[in-house]
Amino acid sequence: MEELSFEGKILNTPYGKPDAYNALSMPVYNSAAFEFETAEQMELAFTGRAADHTYSRITNPTVQYFEDRVRTITGAFGVTALNSGMAAITNTIIALAQTGSNIVTSRHLFGNTYSFFTFTLAAFGVEIRFCDLTNAAEVEANIDANTCAVFLEIITNPQLEVADLKAISGVAKQKGVPVVADTTVIPFCAFKAKNFGVNIEIVSSTKYISGGATGLGGLIIDYGTFNWQQSPKLGELAKQFGPATFTVKMRKEIHRNLGAYMTPQTAYMQTLGLETMSLRYEKASATCQALVEKLEKLPEIASVNYTGLLTNKFNAISKAQFGEHPGAMFTFDLESREAAFRFMNKLKLIKRATNLFDNKTLAIHPASTIFGTFTPEVRREMNVSDNTIRISVGLESVEDLLADFVQALK
Ligand SMILES: *Cc1c(COP(=O)(O)O)cnc(C)c1O
Repeated sequence: MEELSFEGKILNTPYGKPDAYNALSMPVYNSAAFEFETAEQMELAFTGRAADHTYSRITNPTVQYFEDRVRTITGAFGVTALNSGMAAITNTIIALAQTGSNIVTSRHLFGNTYSFFTFTLAAFGVEIRFCDLTNAAEVEANIDANTCAVFLEIITNPQLEVADLKAISGVAKQKGVPVVADTTVIPFCAFKAKNFGVNIEIVSSTKYISGGATGLGGLIIDYGTFNWQQSPKLGELAKQFGPATFTVKMRKEIHRNLGAYMTPQTAYMQTLGLETMSLRYEKASATCQALVEKLEKLPEIASVNYTGLLTNKFNAISKAQFGEHPGAMFTFDLESREAAFRFMNKLKLIKRATNLFDNKTLAIHPASTIFGTFTPEVRREMNVSDNTIRISVGLESVEDLLADFVQALK
């Protein structure tokens, strides 16, 4: 068959085995364990010489089918589905880091990732080197022999900063360090991480993939493009497994031991979500672009931050990496924290809720919520302002959303 389109690949990924009843959508295999005919077959499965499922903390047919679809559409070497985006981040870092390692990253991070890096990892002797990821020379200067990863978010939240991914991955490659990118804010249909030198991609599938906010999930996507012989921790394993090293480490050790595999129910819901993801994304991102262009003109709004605006300083790099409408999240500033709270409380259609890329449009005041337990100094360092509101645009019409903005700003 000719090379299928993105949607064609999603909808035509074959099952690992034919279904006993020819079910058209993958059944939910809600079973903790799987039975064997003989002790010999059991031995083969448990020692990895046969691909049979044994126990659903390790693999499960429904979850594996979701992983297979993601592998098909991304062209990845290995995909592991976890029960949250944070589980995908923590499993990845624990596979790469050891005491004495450092991670080169930015302060502009998702709140829990920042907390995991600065508090949780510190207890295990892993150093975090914060730098300006829009400055490739600064990244290069921070990398040394103990750097286990360059970690970045492709559009930071809520600052909406965009690093030049080819520049960063070029520096990392030359230094022999893998690039780990959290790409949650732009889905696979619009952003091909592999083409920008990302070695390990992390996605919170809670967001665009789920769509309906039906459950939490996370993905670790290994492109098999890194030479792991250069890794202080994985170098020994790489002599045996070559480009498969990271996925072998993940599947044979880390994810089994940490026990955060995706549940079959979630995999079923997110497989359905994947089928409509590009349609939903096209609609939500185009609505977001149209809405911010209208909001920019309203006198009550001090500033609008969206990298799809021509006036945005990341517009050119954003367009080169993510296309015309760079996602469905934007922020805007009002004159004060009080004005921001007043606006939030007057919303009628837009929901006051955290989460991103639900089918419904959501508003949140990041400084008092996601970053609410951080000190004002840390918030300043992270560029999280008291005047900022973050909007995640859903599937409502531009007119309905604009009307809610106008009435809430009155
Ligand atoms: C939501 C989010 C996460 C965490 O994902 P969960 O599924 O909530 O654990 C990580 N990174 C980014 C950019 C996110 O938006």
